[in-house]
Amino acid sequence: MQHVANPYLDKLIALDRNHLIHPVAPWRKHEQRGATVLESGWGAWLRDARGHELLDAFAGLWCVNIGYGHESVVAAAAEQMRKLPYATGYFHFGSEPAIRLAAKLVKLAPASLTRVYLTLGGSEAVDAAIRLITQYYNNTGRPSKKHFISLERGYHGSSSTGSGLTALPLFHRGFDLPLPTQHYIPSPYRYRSVHPSDEALIAASVAALRAKVAGLGSENVAAFFCEPIQGSGGVIVPPKGWLKAMQQAARELDILFVVDEVITGFGRTGPMFACDAEGVEPDLMTLAKGLTAGYAPMGATLLSERVYAGIADGAPAGAAIGHGATYSAHPVSAAVALEVLRLYEEGGILANGQKVAPHFAAVLDGLADHPLVGDVRYRGLLGALELVSDKATKRGFDASLGLADRIFETGYRNGLVFRSFGDHILGFAPALCFTEGEFVEMARRLKKTLDDVLLSPDVRAAL
Ligand code: PMP
Repeated sequence: MQHVANPYLDKLIALDRNHLIHPVAPWRKHEQRGATVLESGWGAWLRDARGHELLDAFAGLWCVNIGYGHESVVAAAAEQMRKLPYATGYFHFGSEPAIRLAAKLVKLAPASLTRVYLTLGGSEAVDAAIRLITQYYNNTGRPSKKHFISLERGYHGSSSTGSGLTALPLFHRGFDLPLPTQHYIPSPYRYRSVHPSDEALIAASVAALRAKVAGLGSENVAAFFCEPIQGSGGVIVPPKGWLKAMQQAARELDILFVVDEVITGFGRTGPMFACDAEGVEPDLMTLAKGLTAGYAPMGATLLSERVYAGIADGAPAGAAIGHGATYSAHPVSAAVALEVLRLYEEGGILANGQKVAPHFAAVLDGLADHPLVGDVRYRGLLGALELVSDKATKRGFDASLGLADRIFETGYRNGLVFRSFGDHILGFAPALCFTEGEFVEMARRLKKTLDDVLLSPDVRAAL
């Protein structure tokens, strides 16, 4: 698509400044900086409204797994909009795409999961999980099980209760969170862990979960929530076997095991779901992002038959379960999701992601010796570089340097999009459609970005 200068761009940016609230942005700082307006996308590439072309190494917000510009997805949405743009899922209504999508997800997901509640995105999927778990224990005669445990640095969205399971201070400050029923255990953060081996780190996580449940009393604990790889907490990649060990521990402790695959689902780490790599069968699973690859809003909460039956059979006879939204199971989003799922499988996108993952690994490994880089970690097409000022002591950088933001802005100028977490972690989640050549280009732009920042006298002085 050819870039045509937008004569209203400055006006648009002024309107944005005055009216649009941006998610997770410093509001006043944003007004000063002004918006970067994104205009079009194709494959792994983006163009902003000033005509600047960017290689998107973050798949939008770790969601556009198939890349931009798939006409068949546009056609699926248009066809459904023309035929029936909206059908409520309330009461006993339904639509063909939503029903087919639920059945497809059950077919793809771990065998334990048989029931699907379709939401508008990940936060709502987590929120539904929390509400349905509460309903489950109330309906099955164990109403004291009200406490939830998640991981430090975990991210489970920003709904009013889900953001209490998110264990990032930014999402708590000023919001009176976490709730007294929300608790955390340390994350399996290999690079900054005191545990000498992967086995010891896994054992420590299991011990921490046991201790936390013992402290609260198993009869008071509802569930343990975790991401198979922690995304927004800084792409923390646990050792292989960690997820399985946590599932085992949760079973033994008689608490529900909830896996949040909002980022890791749909080929991001290699297999369709990260659970598949370890044969993990959770009691509940939350999905979003790659489900529609960002082409339309949708998430999903998958339940085991045991949880579904506990809720259904424990409710007063004939009573509705009072959870739902106007746009639950939206037919256009469902039609988009069905086509996106077809592209992962029949369109070869999942296979391409697996094929090119070693090139992604090579991009990050190639920077391991860079003076700013302390740790390189990845699985599949999800990875991070952790920056340090001293590799031996793993000391970070003074926050006053604003290093990660500076690297992000420099990256943008160099035509590369990725994300920074805190002041010292750079995260990457390229679309599964990346080519080998695009990874070569990513390596070049990323190295130049780190080098450009390194040339600043204040950064040199901090090393
Ligand atoms: N869970 C995880 C693991 C996520 O990464 C996210 C979003 N980054 C969410 C939940 C929330 O999803 P959404 O932003 O679609 O509400």
